[in-house]
Amino acid sequence: MNKINKSVNVPQSLLHGSKDATDKIRQEIREGKRVKFGNLYKADDVKELLKKDQHGKCAYCERYLNGDYGAVEHYRPKGGYIQSCDDVLHKPGYYWLTYDWNNLLYSCDRCNTSYKRNLFPLVNDADRNIADEDISKEEPLIINPAMEDPGDHIEFHQYMVCPKRVGDTDDIKGNTTIAIFHLNSDNELLNKRRKAWIKYMKMLELLNLARKKADKGDNEDKSIAIRIRQIVDDFSSEESEFTGMFKYQYKQKP
Ligand SMILES: [Zn+2]
Repeated sequence: MNKINKSVNVPQSLLHGSKDATDKIRQEIREGKRVKFGNLYKADDVKELLKKDQHGKCAYCERYLNGDYGAVEHYRPKGGYIQSCDDVLHKPGYYWLTYDWNNLLYSCDRCNTSYKRNLFPLVNDADRNIADEDISKEEPLIINPAMEDPGDHIEFHQYMVCPKRVGDTDDIKGNTTIAIFHLNSDNELLNKRRKAWIKYMKMLELLNLARKKADKGDNEDKSIAIRIRQIVDDFSSEESEFTGMFKYQYKQKP
């Protein structure tokens, strides 16, 4: 997971249509009708901007999203919420945030549909105030990579994600996020991260050899070392898959 720098400018379709669409939902809830969520939150310009801001990667697992694979995901679930896996679905959800740019992320189908679903645990469930549309007291247990630095809650031990340690205990938000998105137990994801990690370590080894050669060598040897250094740096660039993991390594051992 990596910090997302989301565009400040809200996509046009949300800017112009979200107020009316949200009022319509409020009306349906007041009248006890079944809420019909429109497609505005996944309009083309919304999808495109989210994809661009996230460099084509899932907000949670950092897998590349290829083609149309992926979904506009509501950080706070729009239709209903679940505090924990053994909880029942509570309705309504955070309906007034359905078209709120700050509540939208782009994620892979697995993170969105298979893992997170309507889960939105809080440190204290009693702080949830859906009736007044008030989220000011909430302390969510899922990291929002667009609103905070995931590095405050998680770290990496090689290619495994771990919660940060707070004194003698694990960071609860880090721990919950890792568990919900199966960040260490989704085999396909783990395999991808492991392969990327092995490739990175091989390039580091090559860089060390090239540097040694460059110390005693000519300009050509030096330019080879510089080129390899650029390839190593690319692993932690925003465009790479699993930037969060490589950024963490980079901080530990530049
Ligand atoms: Zn994902």
